[in-house]
Amino acid sequence: MTTEGPRAAGPRTAGPRPCRPPATPGVRPPAGPPGSALTGASDAYRRWGLDRPLARPPAPPDVKPALGRSGPQQWGLPPIVRRVPTDRRVVFVTIDDGIEKDPRFVEQARELGLPFTGFLTDNVIGTHYDYFDQLRLLGNPMENHTLTHPSLAGMAYDDQVREICGQRDILWHRFGQQPKLFRPPFGEYDDTTLRAASFCGVRTVVLWRAEMETHGLAYRSGDHLLPGDIVLAHFRGPEQLEGQSMTEWITGLVRAIQAQGFTIGRLEDYV
Ligand SMILES: [Zn+2]
Repeated sequence: MTTEGPRAAGPRTAGPRPCRPPATPGVRPPAGPPGSALTGASDAYRRWGLDRPLARPPAPPDVKPALGRSGPQQWGLPPIVRRVPTDRRVVFVTIDDGIEKDPRFVEQARELGLPFTGFLTDNVIGTHYDYFDQLRLLGNPMENHTLTHPSLAGMAYDDQVREICGQRDILWHRFGQQPKLFRPPFGEYDDTTLRAASFCGVRTVVLWRAEMETHGLAYRSGDHLLPGDIVLAHFRGPEQLEGQSMTEWITGLVRAIQAQGFTIGRLEDYV
């Protein structure tokens, strides 16, 4: 049985890179016989409205691909990535902000073995970091999306540092891990942002090439996904999604990705 239960019962990747937090007993369901409640896997995809399980992503590269710089003046600053250089049929889901905290999404992420990266903004999370910690303990990193979600372009250096380092410190305090990836709100940044991000320990600035809108994917160019695309989604609920729940919306995203012959990888294995 190689097509079921992508990562519910074992390591999510075959590569040697040890950057995933160890599995936490009691959080990820243990292995059980196919179809048992313990697998959370064999037919979970049907329960979440999929036609087939999420295929296991290809083994990550032994060496992370080189990411281009945005220009010759950017030497020493973090690279900016919209699309991971790979020819594998894999894309990367990122989920931003943190407005919606739907407990069923934790179940969905666990049962589908859905890898994603969260980019969290403090002022919409408030006292609810525990919710995102549940998702983090499933193996989904929680990264930096500023304290208050301003458009950083044009802001003074000190103010940008406050936004980026401030959220870094909160994530560090809450989760015991320093975020390495950063996404500027609205995808808007300037050279000052890159200097501030570098100062705050950012390894890579992550943008996106495709976005899950209320009823489907939209692309910065073209009309389909490309290998390595980074896909933007949000923690959103019925109020923002014309009545859809977050889990229905995420099912729509997974279906759209599967329909184009892709599966979902773990961004931190590549950047
Ligand atoms: Zn945002």
